[in-house]
Amino acid sequence: MTLLSRYDALLLDLDGTVYRGHAPVPGAPEAVAAARAAGLAIRFVTNNASRSPQEVADHLTEIGFAPALDEVSTSAQAAASMLADLVPAGSTVLVLGTEALVEQVRQRGLVPTRTADGAVAVIQGLSQDTGWRELAEACVAVRAGAVWVACNVDLTLPTERGLLPGSGSLVRALMAATDAEPLVAGKPAVPLLEQAAKSAGAQRPLVVGDRLDTDIAGACNAGMDSLLVLTGVSTREEAMALPEDQRPTHIADDLSVLSATVEG
Ligand SMILES: [Mg+2]
Repeated sequence: MTLLSRYDALLLDLDGTVYRGHAPVPGAPEAVAAARAAGLAIRFVTNNASRSPQEVADHLTEIGFAPALDEVSTSAQAAASMLADLVPAGSTVLVLGTEALVEQVRQRGLVPTRTADGAVAVIQGLSQDTGWRELAEACVAVRAGAVWVACNVDLTLPTERGLLPGSGSLVRALMAATDAEPLVAGKPAVPLLEQAAKSAGAQRPLVVGDRLDTDIAGACNAGMDSLLVLTGVSTREEAMALPEDQRPTHIADDLSVLSATVEG
């Protein structure tokens, strides 16, 4: 019995799980290839809303994973889909984020804009170019009652220079100015994981990630089994310190556990 025989899809986190910086986690490409060969659907599931699915796929291809485009699930895709269910087709949507997010909005039959004029919704993802003027436009729209969806609420962004402000830090700025709260797509909220599982046609998905507060908490929130790999942020001790219903289903040093023989 292996973990691969128990599940029909892997919902894989990226940073700290399949790669670190510019290099794959050792053994990760082989582990993913083995899962594919065993017939599992694969989804690379990222909270990052700055890059397009194609850019994510290109990066994964460079480091040895060779994903199909539909194997990539981003929080920008999930947030745009959420929004499309909440507002009428053709609605004007204020986009705080990159052109990749604008494109997701456009693909769902909504009309992206950069000002509050006519905006019935605000969609927020991280862009390194977002400034006060854009936040002010979003503030006007949200205060006027616009639906507000955030791609993720990660407070920090890990970089070579250390932790920098993440999407969640800018979401908090807007929360402070509006007394409103956004709907959230990315982990640990459930829409991104649910959409990834649905797109894979999965009945028994396994969420795989390196962070307890996003990947594992998201799996718990979505009622999915999870595997914590110790190749990134969280430790076994931190996992075991959590209440039982918040712990990962499985904990392992790395992805090689997927093909290893396990009990029962
Ligand atoms: Mg991670």
